[in-house]
Amino acid sequence: MSYVFPRHSKARYPVACGGQGAYLIDRDGRRYLDASGGAAVSSLGHGHPAVVSAIKAQVDRLAYAHSGFFTTEPSEALAEHLVTRAPEGLARVYFVSGGSEANETALKLARQYHLERGEEGRHHFIARQQSYHGNTLGALAVGGSVARRAPFQPLLMPASHIAPCYAYRHQAADETEEAYGLRAADALEVEIQRVGPETVAGFIAEPVVGATAGVVPPAPGYFKRIREICDRHGILLILDEVMCGMGRTGSLYACEQDGIAPDILTCAKGLGGGYQPIGAVLASQSIYDTIAEGSGAFEHGFTYIGHATACAAALAVQQTIETDDLLANVRRQGTALREALDARFGNHHHVGDIRGRGLFIGLELVAERASKEPFDPDLKINAKIKQRAMAEGLICYPGGGTADGRRGDHVLLAPPFIIGPDHIAELVDKLGRAVDGAL
Ligand code: PLP
Repeated sequence: MSYVFPRHSKARYPVACGGQGAYLIDRDGRRYLDASGGAAVSSLGHGHPAVVSAIKAQVDRLAYAHSGFFTTEPSEALAEHLVTRAPEGLARVYFVSGGSEANETALKLARQYHLERGEEGRHHFIARQQSYHGNTLGALAVGGSVARRAPFQPLLMPASHIAPCYAYRHQAADETEEAYGLRAADALEVEIQRVGPETVAGFIAEPVVGATAGVVPPAPGYFKRIREICDRHGILLILDEVMCGMGRTGSLYACEQDGIAPDILTCAKGLGGGYQPIGAVLASQSIYDTIAEGSGAFEHGFTYIGHATACAAALAVQQTIETDDLLANVRRQGTALREALDARFGNHHHVGDIRGRGLFIGLELVAERASKEPFDPDLKINAKIKQRAMAEGLICYPGGGTADGRRGDHVLLAPPFIIGPDHIAELVDKLGRAVDGAL
C-alpha cells in the first residue's frame, strides 16, 4: 500500500535507497548503472562527497532566506559563476526551482520586456514541433507535443509550432547539411510573416532537442540564421538548455557550439545535478535594464527563488565540473561512447540513427532501417526497452514515436560526466540486450 500519487497508476517502482557514483541501488540491493541520470539530471553521478559536504555546511549555516528580504552568499556566488562563463550579453540570473519554472519565467520576462518598451502587441510565442519545455501552462503551451497539450488545450495560450531542425527525417537527399539548416531556419521567417512580426514576443527552442525526439543536434548554421531572423524583427530568442545545458554536450552552455548567444537562456537539470531542485534564467543586460529602468520590478516571483541550500549544491556541482576538468571527460567519453554504440548498433536493422553531442546521445529506433518507417506506437517499444533495461540493471531514457510517423521511438543516453571505459562497456552491453530483447 502506497499513499504516493505515482506517475503511472499500474507501475510498481523499486525503492531507490542509495547512490554511488554512476550507480543507483534499490532496497533489495540491486545496482543500476545510471546511464541517463534519470532524465539527464545527475551530471556528477550520485553521492559526490564535495557536493554532499557543501550542502551539509550550508544547512548548518543557513538553509533558506526569502529573496524578498535577503540575498545570500551562495546565490550571489552561483550567479557570478554562471554569468562569467555565459555566452556574451547574458548578465543577470533569476533563480527558480526547476525547468518548467525556468521556461515559465522566460516567457513572462519576454512579455514584460516588450510591454515596458511600449510594444504591447507582442504576446505571441513561436516554438517548434518535437520540443518539450515543461508541464506548467505556459511552458506546456509552447511545447511541441500535441498529445501532452490536448487535455489542457482550453487552458493554454495560443502559440505557433514550426518544424524542428531534424536532419535524419527532413534533410533532402540532394541537400547539404548546411543548406538544410538554412531551409529549416527559414520556417521561422515564414511563420513570423504569417502571424505578423509586430505580434511576436519570442521564439523558444532547445539547442539540442532532448526527450521528445531522442537528442537531435541542429544542422550547422541553423541557429545563426535563427538569431538573424529574431534580430531583424525585434523578437527575443529564448534557448531552453534545461536538458542540454551545463556541460552535457561538452561545453558549459550548449549554444556555445553554435556560435550564438540568446537573449534569455534557461537551465535546470544539470545545474544542481539532482542534489537539490534548482533552475535558472539568464537574461541579457538590455532585458534587465529595460525592466530596472522602467517599472523597476519583474511582475513574477516564487517562494524558493535563490534557495540558499539549492544554490550551494549547484555551486559545488559546477565548481567540481571545473576543478576536475569534467568537460574534457564529457568530450572524451562522449566520443568513446559514440564509437562503442556505432560498433554495437551501427548495422542494426532497427536502429535508424545514432546522434548527439558530448555525453548526450540518442538512438532512433525504426521498424525498418532503409525506409525509416517508425514502429507502430501501440507496440510501446519504449516502455518495453525501459523495463528490459531495468531488469538488466541499466537506467536509460526511452521515448515513444508518433502515429503520423514524424519520428520513431528512441533511447536517450545521458550518463554522468565521471564515467570511464568500464562504464561504457557495461552500458553498451546491457543496452544491447535490452533493445534486442524488446524488439
Ligand atoms: N525543458 C526541457 C528541455 C526539458 O527536458 C524539461 C524536462 O524534461 C523541462 C524543460 C521541464 O523541466 P522540469 O521537469 O524540471 O520542470
